[in-house]
Amino acid sequence: MTDTPRGRAVAILGSTGSVGVSTLALLERFPDRFRAVALAAGRNMERLAAQVRRHGPALVSVADEVAAREFRERVPDYAGRLVVGVDGPLAVATHPEATVVISALVGALGLMPTLAAARAGKDVALANKEVLVVAGELVTQAAREQGVALLPVDSEHNAIFQALQGHNRSEVRRIVLTASGGPFLHHTVAQLASVTVADALKHPTWKMGSKITVDCSTLMNKGLEVIEAHWLFGMPADQIDIVVHPQSIVHSMVEYIDGSVISQMAVPDMTIPIAYALTYPDRLPLSYLPSLDLPAAGTLTFLPPDRERFPCLALAYQALRAGGTMPAVLNAANEVAVERFLAEDVAYRDVPEIVRSVMALHPRGPATDLETLMAADRWAREAASAWSVASGGGRQAATAT
Ligand code: MG
Repeated sequence: MTDTPRGRAVAILGSTGSVGVSTLALLERFPDRFRAVALAAGRNMERLAAQVRRHGPALVSVADEVAAREFRERVPDYAGRLVVGVDGPLAVATHPEATVVISALVGALGLMPTLAAARAGKDVALANKEVLVVAGELVTQAAREQGVALLPVDSEHNAIFQALQGHNRSEVRRIVLTASGGPFLHHTVAQLASVTVADALKHPTWKMGSKITVDCSTLMNKGLEVIEAHWLFGMPADQIDIVVHPQSIVHSMVEYIDGSVISQMAVPDMTIPIAYALTYPDRLPLSYLPSLDLPAAGTLTFLPPDRERFPCLALAYQALRAGGTMPAVLNAANEVAVERFLAEDVAYRDVPEIVRSVMALHPRGPATDLETLMAADRWAREAASAWSVASGGGRQAATAT
């Protein structure tokens, strides 16, 4: 498995999502350095068809037969292989030509293919934080055993990864994740109670998918990133802090034992962390992006996160400290709660309430294998789906198993 003179062979899980689109735009800028060999998409066939015409991947996968029919209509002359359903992302993740897999599926869906990629000896550029939240132990273990790199694409973790280069890990005092604070940074508890779906989908600095945008607004995204950082950098919960930084210019920091703080700053554009993950330890000349103009940015502000107004943060720390199956339960309950909020089935303030009540019902177990984690995930999804305000003011969920 080697990269040919035509450039590094890249497989993308989630090619039509925000990170997938940014990755393909980068590949197109550097045709001598990269080529896309396999793309996994869901149901956005208009976008996938355009990507296939431009990049000519040998393999594509789509969610179901309806999507497959639409894909064949849109690209009738596609000569590559089309895989339909759950086997698709697995085939893309283990494509024999690929040497690096961009893991950018939304939510826990990305877990099995990402694990398969690491086990097949591919480097993994990880944009899907849920993979490490659910199965951090299994994924990092697979990467170690296969000697493959686990490269963070998430902007904060990419920043920490950069700030760690050339330094001694044993000299790290703590890492500090920055959070934009989301659109409701200054909302009161009463204002938070009346947040609508449209309100929650407005993000001040980053353009992303709807699930992660809601997670940013509840700060669950930051909570998941704390768990992600724990697995990527081997840091305990006590040495991972959060600071709110609304301008999203300082992407995160590492503090060393002598008090020195190394941060990575850049314009908020996912192209930068994607490029660094793909070319590490080298850098790509991204001269078409604007330089960071600090005088134009003016003031950079930092404030502590409000754990009372944003209870998802404390829930995430609680899950990390509990360990075992609890982070998987946190994640699954949150995914369902966010889906229900986006479907206008529950209120915004119910999202943390659902996660809290599902976690409270879960008898934590060890995270020894994928089957156990998937069972905890399924149980939490059922419990979160069954939760209702009527069933005891949100204090009850489905019966524990
Ligand atoms: Mg992030």
